[in-house]
Amino acid sequence: MNLDTDDDTALETSTDEECPTCARTGRLFGLADAEAEVEWGVEPLGGGQYEHIPQRYWQAVFTPAAFRCTVCDPELKGPEELRLAELPYQRFELSSDALDEPGFDLQALTDAKSDYEPPW
Ligand SMILES: [Zn+2]
Repeated sequence: MNLDTDDDTALETSTDEECPTCARTGRLFGLADAEAEVEWGVEPLGGGQYEHIPQRYWQAVFTPAAFRCTVCDPELKGPEELRLAELPYQRFELSSDALDEPGFDLQALTDAKSDYEPPW
């Protein structure tokens, strides 16, 4: 499946998702990407003073694009069809365990990203 993307660091991949029709496990296809996130930690300095320390990290995100079930074989394409089938259709945060594709490597994605100026 070919998904158009203008971000060449995003990775086309898929993740397990229950089929809305037959309740078996189908595949949700989409793009995995790494997104820069900042979380603010608070470090006590004493005397009631606190220092706010930005903790920067990469979060893996997945943008669903299509769903396919090998059992009942519906093919849903695009956010509108996914939404109508009550499948995930918006970008969501992902743990790398959720993907069993050997091609998915968050480290490789973030390495590719670090060629760019971080948006932080
Ligand atoms: Zn099905």
